[in-house]
Amino acid sequence: MPEQVMFTPAALNEPWGQKIFERVQSLNLPIKELSHNRLTGLRGQDDRQTYNIAKRTLAVVTAPPSHFKLSPIPPSADWQFHIAEGCPAHCQYCYLAGSLSGPPVIRTFANLPQILENLTTYERPEQLTTYEVSCYTDPLGIEHLTGSLAECIRHFGTRSNAHLRWVSKFDAVDNLLDLPHNGHTHCRMSVNAAPISMKFEGGTASVASRLGALRKLADSGYQIGLVIAPIMPIDDWQVHYSRLFNLISEALDINCHLTFELISHRFTPGSKEVLQTWYPQSKLDMDEEKRLIKRHKFGGIKYVYDVDTMKVMKRFFQSEIQQRFPNAEILYWT
Ligand code: SF4
Repeated sequence: MPEQVMFTPAALNEPWGQKIFERVQSLNLPIKELSHNRLTGLRGQDDRQTYNIAKRTLAVVTAPPSHFKLSPIPPSADWQFHIAEGCPAHCQYCYLAGSLSGPPVIRTFANLPQILENLTTYERPEQLTTYEVSCYTDPLGIEHLTGSLAECIRHFGTRSNAHLRWVSKFDAVDNLLDLPHNGHTHCRMSVNAAPISMKFEGGTASVASRLGALRKLADSGYQIGLVIAPIMPIDDWQVHYSRLFNLISEALDINCHLTFELISHRFTPGSKEVLQTWYPQSKLDMDEEKRLIKRHKFGGIKYVYDVDTMKVMKRFFQSEIQQRFPNAEILYWT
């Protein structure tokens, strides 16, 4: 639960903004109606205080016009779109650190019907088009406050050639189970080996609860999958990741169609700098000396594990998944 919920005038002008207003009012959360459309009052006396204020603030705003021009998001989906930006959890490796700028306030968008309507213009007539909604937020983490993920699922349930994909580290799925999703939504849980999850994923649901939630979604007819990320070759990593696979086998029907997305840990100079401000005591290994530099096409760099480490890890994950889950599909390793 946020400590304050801010509404801009533009957000309050939107019917969906009014719905969010009613929700947060019924939860008795402190509401602040801003007199202008800019977010202010989020800076504390130092970085620590700014982080704390921002992470405990939900701001209901309208998505800017730039959000209506979608970007591709390979290999996850054809397009990404955003119903919110920011996340209430405290993962010390958070990938948002490199993507969003400024204090990590959680913004949710009140012009959701327009956002969803815009997606239809990207659909291809004879071919499936896929959309990822979790690039800038954990949509389930704020669903109790917004209802926006459920609205997306309902929307995609009505489309014949468009599928929605979302991923989470939270577990409150009960309000999603009876939605008319029509099999058009692919729900994934992001999981990791216990030492990583317990040390670095503050404010999230436990891995066991995430898996329990995924089971409920599968039983409600949703397509399901797992994102194992960020994969790290910590001490005894094979043992810890084998235990994670044991947990997965116990929680899910091992014969179901299950997708896996496997993402090794990486960071950029920018994300490292932000993460070190957010989590100055973190023991997360971001030693550039031990990494390989990878350049992407726009000139930026990221630090990844060396080729041999990547090969060994990739082989291990592929073999575990093939042996344990006969109908699983590995969508990608990166
Ligand atoms: S749950 Fe995801 S988005 Fe939220 S803090 Fe953790 S890594 Fe970042």
